Amino acid sequence: MPTSTIRITDPSVDHLIQAAPADSCSTDLAAGPWIFDTVPGYGPGSSMGDVIPTGAPRQGELPAEYREAGEDELDSRIRAAKATLGDRVVVLGHFYQREEVMQHADYVGDSFQLANAALEHPDAEAIVFCGVHFMAETADLLSTPDQAVILPNLAAGCSMADMADIDQVEDCWEQLADVLGPLDRVDADGRVPVIPVTYMNSSAAIKGFVGRHGGIVCTSSNAETVLEWAFERGRRVLFFPDQHLGRNTAKAMGVPLERMPMWNPRRSLGGSSAADLEDSKVILWHGFCSVHRRFTVAQIDQARAEHPDVRVIVHPECPMEVVDAADEAGSTDYIRRAIGAATTPAAFAIGTEINLVRRLAAQFPQHEIFCLDPVVCPCSTMYRIHPGYLAWVLEELVAGRVVNRISVTADVADPARVALERMLAAKPRA
Ligand code: SF4
Repeated sequence: MPTSTIRITDPSVDHLIQAAPADSCSTDLAAGPWIFDTVPGYGPGSSMGDVIPTGAPRQGELPAEYREAGEDELDSRIRAAKATLGDRVVVLGHFYQREEVMQHADYVGDSFQLANAALEHPDAEAIVFCGVHFMAETADLLSTPDQAVILPNLAAGCSMADMADIDQVEDCWEQLADVLGPLDRVDADGRVPVIPVTYMNSSAAIKGFVGRHGGIVCTSSNAETVLEWAFERGRRVLFFPDQHLGRNTAKAMGVPLERMPMWNPRRSLGGSSAADLEDSKVILWHGFCSVHRRFTVAQIDQARAEHPDVRVIVHPECPMEVVDAADEAGSTDYIRRAIGAATTPAAFAIGTEINLVRRLAAQFPQHEIFCLDPVVCPCSTMYRIHPGYLAWVLEELVAGRVVNRISVTADVADPARVALERMLAAKPRA
């Protein structure tokens, strides 16, 4: 299948799926996400094959009037509710959200940009986060106690964040202490045996764990700076949940692959030997993003065969061989800036979530921008936020009711904020 030769004028992935469901990774995507709220699992899309933890939040049934309303009706109801609420509400939209939701966002960005955007509105009563669960938790950590952070669909988790649960991480920490000795013991160089580093895409409980154990949070934009910070304080790093971001970043910093053993939480010592753990520089948690795992070197070869001058840019959550084969790798913000900075028409093959790629293609019609993966396969959890849920939570606010509030308890929030503050204070080497 050719990657793309069509100029994209309509960024809506939903329209694409409705027009040709068979060209997507699941024909179920053509149905509303509410049909998946009553069954366990992530629903259709890139993470549908992942195992959802028992106890993952479920969304109650969306009232029929929102399930049955058409696109135009939902659009006007959302606009009317926002107009009534005025400055009392801020709507945040992650880059991977569907276009029909994004057009109502007051701010568009990645998870950390959005959490910071919420800070600019301390007087707003409600922050409606159109993204996934860990992002709403981060917004709650950074917002004031009086503000309600609302996730329009509670089933919008993140399969990657779910791959590191707090019990597994606590167990890993105990096992590492058995191998490495007391984990708070400082050596002659002033370093402890291991510093935990978590990607922003993790639960508040994991961020809290990291904060309690001298660790730090990173984003895909600052992972190298954060690893430098950690190596100054620890002999090695325990990096979770995304093995690919950890491996790609550490490899670029010169850490040999043989010093990056994997930690599989379902196996004793994570499936590594004690000797490998002792010799390690970065211990990689066995987590991944099912959206970015879809990209392959074969897709890059095909894009280059069809577009000889194509610039291939992929997200660092992609597997190492894909990052190595690409021309560049960077965060969503990096990808957007790289395209925005191109002054002459060019072809870009992008390895990240389809909603962002289609939006960029419509935004920069002078370039040919296409997704490396020819199969339309959005993130299954981002997909759970539909305009029907956005209309519902906003109209509930108009009626004086807060639904789907995400709150992080103080015992978790305090150390999680410490880990985030360390990240903000970490500076790149001059
Ligand atoms: S794109 Fe990947 S990391 Fe982002 S929310 Fe979806 S599953 Fe999680």
